[in-house]
Amino acid sequence: MDKNLKVLPLIPLRGITVFPYMVLHFDVGRKKSILALEEAMLVDQKIFLTAQKEAKIEEPEEEDIFETGTICNIKQILKLPGDTVRVLVEGETRAVLKECISKDPFFKVEVEILEDGEECSDNKNCEALARTIKDKFDEYIKLSGNIPVETIITLDELNNCGRLADTVSSYLMLKQEKRQEILECYDIEERLKKLLSVLVNEIEILKLERKIGVKVKNKIDKVQKEYYLKEQLKAIQEELGEDDEDKKEMKRYKNKISKAKLPKDVKDKALYELDRLKNTGTYSAEGGVIRTYLDWILDLPWNAQTKDNLEIKSVREILEKEHYGLKDVKDRIIEYLAAKKMSKSLKGPILCLVGPPGVGKTSIAKSIAHALNRNFVRMSLGGVRDEAEIRGHRKTYVGAIPGRIIYGMKQAKSKNPLFLLDEIDKMSGDFRGDPADALLEVLDSEQNSTFRDHYLELDFDLSNVMFITTANTLETVPRPLFDRMEVIEVSGYTSEEKLHICKEHLIPKELEQNGVGDNKIIFSDSAIYKLIDSYTRESGVRSLERRVASIIRKAIAEIMEKGRKNINVTVTKVKSYLGPEIFTYDKVDKEDKVGVVTGMAWTGYGGDTLPVEVSVMPGNGKLQLTGQLGDVMKESAKTGYSYIRANSHKYGIESGFYKNYDVHIHVPEGAVPKDGPSAGVTMVTAMISALNKNKVKHNVAMTGEITLTGRVLPIGGLKEKSLAAYRAGIDTVIIPMENEKDLLKIPKTVKSKLKYILADNIDTVLENAILRDN
Ligand code: ADP
Repeated sequence: MDKNLKVLPLIPLRGITVFPYMVLHFDVGRKKSILALEEAMLVDQKIFLTAQKEAKIEEPEEEDIFETGTICNIKQILKLPGDTVRVLVEGETRAVLKECISKDPFFKVEVEILEDGEECSDNKNCEALARTIKDKFDEYIKLSGNIPVETIITLDELNNCGRLADTVSSYLMLKQEKRQEILECYDIEERLKKLLSVLVNEIEILKLERKIGVKVKNKIDKVQKEYYLKEQLKAIQEELGEDDEDKKEMKRYKNKISKAKLPKDVKDKALYELDRLKNTGTYSAEGGVIRTYLDWILDLPWNAQTKDNLEIKSVREILEKEHYGLKDVKDRIIEYLAAKKMSKSLKGPILCLVGPPGVGKTSIAKSIAHALNRNFVRMSLGGVRDEAEIRGHRKTYVGAIPGRIIYGMKQAKSKNPLFLLDEIDKMSGDFRGDPADALLEVLDSEQNSTFRDHYLELDFDLSNVMFITTANTLETVPRPLFDRMEVIEVSGYTSEEKLHICKEHLIPKELEQNGVGDNKIIFSDSAIYKLIDSYTRESGVRSLERRVASIIRKAIAEIMEKGRKNINVTVTKVKSYLGPEIFTYDKVDKEDKVGVVTGMAWTGYGGDTLPVEVSVMPGNGKLQLTGQLGDVMKESAKTGYSYIRANSHKYGIESGFYKNYDVHIHVPEGAVPKDGPSAGVTMVTAMISALNKNKVKHNVAMTGEITLTGRVLPIGGLKEKSLAAYRAGIDTVIIPMENEKDLLKIPKTVKSKLKYILADNIDTVLENAILRDN
């Protein structure tokens, strides 16, 4: 027998091609194959393995198997459960089937062994091909990722090109035909070429796969991530019961919007925002912002309004019942009503109530709202510096909210409330814009029907609102605002007026608040006067109200503790409840003195007397000023001094007095700093008296500004000043001629007790205040 021919048992393989030098195991189940195996084991453990052309054929015939296969060494046989056997084989050499000796009980074939020759060892082509294959295989390993990298090292050691080709082929994941094609290349160079082309092709495919793979993977990753997160969120929401909530919430808003009777543009905006909310979800941060915005829109009174009470009689009754005095304010409201009855479209007036604290500005405003049947809102402008406080912040700001006007309208719950803007004089502008400008727009009846808040970004109609503002002084009210308002002065009260207010309003109010029945606690008039004069010092009645409240509380305690039926609050009771008197008004000196004059001052807290003392001493013409004096008062002292120097001859004063004497002006008393020009005449009178040693009448008080030529200029706060003089026991007051018109506002009780002297020149003042020696 030719040494290249060999008879061997054959196993047809399904889907596997074995290359020489390749180690692999496979399972054998077919009876025929197992018998072939057994035969091989009995002989020399060599077997011929070749692939079936079609893997699915169960009983292959000769023509169903490839002729070229590999002679293998059986290394191991393992019996598996059932009739299967696992075989480990190692490829040895190529062989071609020459003849089928027997088919049964297994294939026995004669094969021709095709061993690789040595012809390739010094063939440069082969060498080059082999190197390229190694490089490419290296690349292939990296791309495929499922072949151990060390494999390449093993290959490096291989000098035999044929073996190299077979080994590399055994590692490649190739289709069966391709593997078979390589196996059938008996010529080494040809095999190398074939392998190289297959390898290059595979690399291309791998690269493409990878490219597509990355893209697809990225896409899948992203989609998957989103999906995953969404699912997770859903699960969390479900867990929290929010998913349902979300839907309910949307429904609730939708219902509210359709029921709210919103103007068209507002409704459109609300629906638009609701749509956005659907996309963001109610529980996201953005969702929170949208919800707040929607709540604002829905809470505002776009259409709701109260019906005005136009019954003049009943309005008057309510106003009178709730407040004593305040005639100007009450009259103005009645006028407004009368005008409104005539013309239906009348806009609300913008009243500005000016006066010291506690005179009832806020509470009369509340009362007006009550009388007119309007809702009442109050907003304090004290300390407002930023325009945004009035007009709101843009929605893009984190935590933005509407301005105070819109805030107030929400509270008002109707579009025609009475809106009280308190302390309009305490507002100030800074770099963030002037709030007064924004307020102008609010108050201007031409513009306020389309007031636009930065946050809402919708027009809101303020034209039906009745605005009332309050201020302590008009000096600091921004001019353009001032021009749009109707000013009503609410000045302080006399003791008699306070007595009325206290008896008719404050005491009943406090009793009611404390749940005390009628006639249980009775105040005597003198006790109330005591409270007014010795326990409070104010133009209004705020402290008085507090004192009354405190007495009532103490009286209640006494009733409870000592089982009294009722308590009469007398002067002694007041003293025992409240302790020693706190204030004593400077009753003016009973004596006429040289260099001592009573002036009258006006402070934010009402009027007060202002004693001025002057002393003259030898010196060299210094003018010294001490006491609680503001700059303006110092200026008027100097003006007065110059006037005296220029006119000394008129008043019997030594002409060179300013060279030989020092003049010291002192304004004692007064924790409250007093300032203002109105002490000019007082200081001049005191200086002249001190210089010419003539006494000043102790019962005269004066006020007025002075010029260098001795003219007396008008002053403000005459009522407050008169009240202070009256309280101090003065009987004559000298006032500037130009203030004559203000006398109308002085209460009759005061006017009947005080003698007013009108002066347009300092001479008139001096004539009436200074006693002549002879
Ligand atoms: P203002 O706003 O001027 O500072 P308020 O309105 O707060 O003063 O008044 C303080 C208190 O005095 C309130 O309780 C108010 O009812 C009462 N009051 C002030 N003036 C009167 C008045 N003329 N009649 C009745 N109560 C008054």
